[in-house]
Amino acid sequence: MEQAQVFNLQKFSIHDGAGIRTDVFFQGCNLRCGWCSNPESQPKEPLPGETVTTYTVPALVAELIKDKPFYDESGGGVTLTGGEALLQPEFVLALCEALHQEGIHVAIETAAYVSEEVFTRVLAAVDFAYIDLKHYDDARHRAGTGVGNALILRNIASALRGKTPAIVRIPVIPGFNDSEADFDGFAKVLNNLGAKEVQLLPFHQLGESKYKRLKLAYAYDGKKQLRDGDISTFSAALESAGIRVQIGG
Ligand code: SF4
Repeated sequence: MEQAQVFNLQKFSIHDGAGIRTDVFFQGCNLRCGWCSNPESQPKEPLPGETVTTYTVPALVAELIKDKPFYDESGGGVTLTGGEALLQPEFVLALCEALHQEGIHVAIETAAYVSEEVFTRVLAAVDFAYIDLKHYDDARHRAGTGVGNALILRNIASALRGKTPAIVRIPVIPGFNDSEADFDGFAKVLNNLGAKEVQLLPFHQLGESKYKRLKLAYAYDGKKQLRDGDISTFSAALESAGIRVQIGG
């Protein structure tokens, strides 16, 4: 039976999809973003001292279904995130099927750095997808995350052509992708992809204490958190290129 390692189940989340949701944080990620707020999620196996829970699909559904009254009342559901949920596609597909049998809405949050075959199969199985684009430029994407963006751009294009509702998310990171030249670069690439709407996620320091606890170097130590107003120029540049903007998740 398929099993997956989950490092956190966050109940009553209101940031990652409609209504009240439970976020399922899968262990393991194939990117290494310097600003990551969940550094403990990156290795396939948990770091020393970090605890994860190994779930089968029925065991995870049994936990998630406890909050179904809240999902139903609020138009919410479950959001699969991480780490990178798409690194465990067979588990995710089985989980989507089981949650749908219980009438539970499923969203996924992904960096989309997986094969097009895996991406397409999982996108077809969820009800909504949030897809990150950290940088429009391949070399700078690689410098910030450890991987290039060509595969991610292909997957985003395919998602935006597909039937599952999807939105591109851009984490706005000081000094990485927040210059005026970057706004124009994102606008061009998003227009080429056919994106009509994006979410901008202002940089925050919420992961800082985890880096300290894990004794890991934090590249954004002391960097100022961005407020919504700090990214209004970015937002205006995208809007003037014909792309609707939501700020925050
Ligand atoms: S993709 Fe997300 S979870 Fe993975 S390293 Fe980047 S910020 Fe962290």
